[in-house]
Amino acid sequence: MKLHNKILLGLAAGGAAGVVANLTVGATHPVIAGINDYLAVPIGQIFLRMLFMVVIPLVFASITLGVAGMGDIRKVGRVGGKALAYFFVTTALAATLGLIVVNIIQPWERVTPETRVELMERFAGDASARVETAATTEFGINTFVNVIPRNPVQAAAGTDLLGIIFFGLVFGAALTLLPAAKAKPMVDVLEALNEVVIKIIGFAMRIAPYGVAGLIFTVASSFGFDLLTAVAAYVGTVLLGLALHVLLTLSFIVHFMIGVSPPRFFLRIKAALITAFSTSSSSATLPTSMAVAETQLGVPRSIYGFTLPLGATMCMNGTAIFEGITVIFLAQIFGVSLTLPQMGIVVVMAVVTAIGAAGVPGGSIPLMVGILTMFGVPGEGIAIVLGIDRILDMSRTTVNVWTDLTAAAWLAKTEGLWTPADMPVDPDAAATSA
Ligand code: ASP
Repeated sequence: MKLHNKILLGLAAGGAAGVVANLTVGATHPVIAGINDYLAVPIGQIFLRMLFMVVIPLVFASITLGVAGMGDIRKVGRVGGKALAYFFVTTALAATLGLIVVNIIQPWERVTPETRVELMERFAGDASARVETAATTEFGINTFVNVIPRNPVQAAAGTDLLGIIFFGLVFGAALTLLPAAKAKPMVDVLEALNEVVIKIIGFAMRIAPYGVAGLIFTVASSFGFDLLTAVAAYVGTVLLGLALHVLLTLSFIVHFMIGVSPPRFFLRIKAALITAFSTSSSSATLPTSMAVAETQLGVPRSIYGFTLPLGATMCMNGTAIFEGITVIFLAQIFGVSLTLPQMGIVVVMAVVTAIGAAGVPGGSIPLMVGILTMFGVPGEGIAIVLGIDRILDMSRTTVNVWTDLTAAAWLAKTEGLWTPADMPVDPDAAATSA
């Protein structure tokens, strides 16, 4: 069986077993707890850690080689500018779509005051921890200054991806300014590092079907399905917003701007989407996204090596949709009606915070608490949605990664470095030889 299908099978089997366990005996049952503690969680963690393990060397090597491969700082500036414009425009479209959908569906009408009180009490502890994090997450001029790491090793140790990206950009730019003979040994080392890391990703992908099954089993077996009914209208609104973004905006881009049929594109990037769904982390998905860009799409490394790390940290369309919807939903629940100009501010803030959010599970929550308090909605109100956030996180992360891959293909195409005809005919043969 092909690896992608095996991963899909892992997802389906882990999900189905988890849901059955949850709805029959529950996650606290000793057998289920035992399976989680000794099988599902460790396997999931091994897979996740294998991916995280390579993120820092991968980002550094691929950004540096991407920049050095372009060979000219002006070209880097142009491609970088185009990438940022793409991130910005698609994120703004996403946030606006979220606002339109939530205002049409008005999911707050379906939440009774009793549900609100119950959820607020049940998740009070978790919510106040997030509010505290939000209080320490300041956003201002220093947010930009802090992108420049004082110490790249410390940035790497703290998984400060933006810091590593910045260091990689400067390092790559400096390499292009050296005489070719001087730059060559360093480029060779980085090339080798990149190859090694790609091999390690290959190892991780071999255990992906089991890792994905373990991660999904853990989430599904302990998920509060009872909570789903309480806020079903809200969950439905977010999922509808995400689906519409994929069906309208991303499909338009893939069909008209990239020139590939959206279902074909989807089938090619499936492994990255499943990894995103099961890990809820754009950063952890980065190695898989890169492997997919290389072996399934055939996008040149000079483009994806640069676009995907930036996208994983800065381009979060799914998160912007989720934030727009959640802010309006919670504001209405707390009796705060926003005017049209205020909704415009929500869109701007959703875009800014989606760009600023870390690509880790729940990375956007503290930033979103900040938007809530801006409009006089108590930050603790986040308690109402925390219980079901994991399922929304899985879904929005999938859309985030989907957008990153469209960005890489679109940029490669507009730079004249790739056309849909460059997509490998038999990608699985390429994947196994990689
Ligand atoms: N989990 C998301 C991601 O990694 C971020 C978020 O929306 O919380 O893309």
